[in-house]
Amino acid sequence: MLEKVLIANRGEIALRILRACKELGIRSVALHSEADRDLKHVRMADESVCIGPASSLESYLNVPAVISAAEVTDSVGIHPGYGFLSENADFAERVSESGFTFIGPRPETIRMMGDKVAAIDAMKKAGVPTVPGSDGPLDNNDEKNLEHARRIGYPIIIKAAGGGGGRGMRVVHAEGALLSSIALTKAEAGAAFNNDVVYMEKFLGNPRHIEIQILADNHGNAIHLAERDCSMQRRHQKVLEEAPAPGVTEAMRDEIGQRCAQACVDIGYSGAGTFEFLYENGEFYFIEMNTRVQVEHPVTEMITGVDIVREQLRIASDLPLAYKQEDIKINGHAIECRINAEDPDNFMPSPGTITAYHAPGGPGIRVDTHIYNGYRVPPYYDSMIGKVISHGETRDVAIARMRTALNEMVVEGIKVNVPLQQELINDAGFQAGSTNIHYLEKKLEEKEQAKTK
Ligand code: ADP
Repeated sequence: MLEKVLIANRGEIALRILRACKELGIRSVALHSEADRDLKHVRMADESVCIGPASSLESYLNVPAVISAAEVTDSVGIHPGYGFLSENADFAERVSESGFTFIGPRPETIRMMGDKVAAIDAMKKAGVPTVPGSDGPLDNNDEKNLEHARRIGYPIIIKAAGGGGGRGMRVVHAEGALLSSIALTKAEAGAAFNNDVVYMEKFLGNPRHIEIQILADNHGNAIHLAERDCSMQRRHQKVLEEAPAPGVTEAMRDEIGQRCAQACVDIGYSGAGTFEFLYENGEFYFIEMNTRVQVEHPVTEMITGVDIVREQLRIASDLPLAYKQEDIKINGHAIECRINAEDPDNFMPSPGTITAYHAPGGPGIRVDTHIYNGYRVPPYYDSMIGKVISHGETRDVAIARMRTALNEMVVEGIKVNVPLQQELINDAGFQAGSTNIHYLEKKLEEKEQAKTK
């Protein structure tokens, strides 16, 4: 087992990693910015290093500073968490070149998955279903591009190979707008991502977002941990997630899950990862792979009993997976509500000091958060301050437990999005299950319209 791990992140995920390290007897090092001295995991870690000022660019994204922190503390492994440097192939490369173990897949794998055209190509070869599209980058041949779109059928979407965070995409509804849209997206992608490669896909009208969690070790074993439904989104940001996905049958799960696991074996994947799909009319369409642990991993942990972060640490220690596919059984249903320090009405960030905090509890409730009474939420980072996760033998029980938990939770001194989450939990559409990725945006729009009337 890795003897000492540097946690190259902050907030709730840093605390989550720290807890896994403690459980496994791994010594832990917390790095932090000047604004983050008071983070809970910094106080609990065996050692801590301040690596720079508040700005992420000068601290959590500062590769030389992170590597130095590993050097001065004699760390063996580096866990990148999510966000920040977690999907930066150059960073992963620097980590191994400097003699440390990157807790995640190989740099080549991260690089391939970061290029959406290469990722889709690899997935097609591995038998994972993808969205009908141009099967490669678009070149400057107008006739060919028009032909691609006619074959796929409008509406289509032009996407940047290097895009991310919901940027670098344009929907085209009719042939008249195709060529100018390709040129525009290419120019924007070149400016934003330093990579002007674009490709074309069928635009799906009302899909759901369903993703498959996988684990793969360095010994040729890969398993899937079923799916999560993350369709409840605002501006491509997930708000509430659940597992399993309503309406997905065991046969469908086995089929798509096995394909993802096999794809991991085919590409020599190592670690935890997520295959993201759009799902429409009973069909899965691969859109991208995340090569890291995800915010919403707890819902999978709750229904499978597998500790995903522990498995990441074991895999990086070169141990074989602790589970075989047949060991994975789905137990009940889990829901996660992301708790953000923001105004629930206008989504403006709401940093500041937490003057009172009471965590919910009781059967089937898990709270992953770094906040405490008196903690000051800094204004420099993502507004997510934690996650409430509920688990029950059925979806209805998980919903009832979440409702109680949200009602019980007290966070004072800053604004939090708990009222929005309460509204969602009590929403008839959500309760019925299987809402699509536009559901929340539409609901918020209607609310806005009702207000101005
Ligand atoms: P990013 O890396 O920027 O998140 P994705 O490829 O994951 O990009 O797409 C982000 C979102 O854009 C999806 O969750 C979905 O809402 C929308 N989207 C992407 N491709 C399609 C498509 N072919 N049809 C419909 N919507 C799409």
